[in-house]
Amino acid sequence: MTTGVYVVLIGVYPSCVAKIGSLGLIRFEKGTYGYVGSAQGRGPFSIEGRLGRHFRKHKAPRWHIDYLLRNKSARCVAGVIASSKTRFECVLNRSVQNLALYSIRRFGSSDCREACRSHLTFFGEVKTAEVIPLVTRVFQSLHLRSQVVLGMPSSDCDNSVHAARRLSFTGEAEPNATIP
Ligand SMILES: [Zn+2]
Repeated sequence: MTTGVYVVLIGVYPSCVAKIGSLGLIRFEKGTYGYVGSAQGRGPFSIEGRLGRHFRKHKAPRWHIDYLLRNKSARCVAGVIASSKTRFECVLNRSVQNLALYSIRRFGSSDCREACRSHLTFFGEVKTAEVIPLVTRVFQSLHLRSQVVLGMPSSDCDNSVHAARRLSFTGEAEPNATIP
């Protein structure tokens, strides 16, 4: 898979205040967040490249999501990915936001084609494992065939996506998979 759309699921524990580039200081309540993005290129701009970047803790921040993931409280736990040729991220984003408690205004949406309010959704104080099937269903409803990729417990590995366990094509987690 090279190009496509994805939702990365981020656990924030405990609540924190982080400086998100030009947005300034933002308070993140503890719980699970979903960030919707797309990868329409090769190498670092492929879906594997993008996820690898999100799973990596240490990097020079460039996008809003990098600023959040640098924070000690935040961890990229999993990605739900699907192959798609056209840029589909805003359609996916809208559907994911329907599941949200609220979204973080202007986060990740500054170069957005469809004037989304935000590309970062807060699901509340629920476990990532509970959110994965909901997000997988959103992909299904858009006729996208999704895969779930879990980050390794130690997310500092540069090859984390290669090392990550790819789960089944249906997006259902294996019963014995450990998801925080
Ligand atoms: Zn958008």
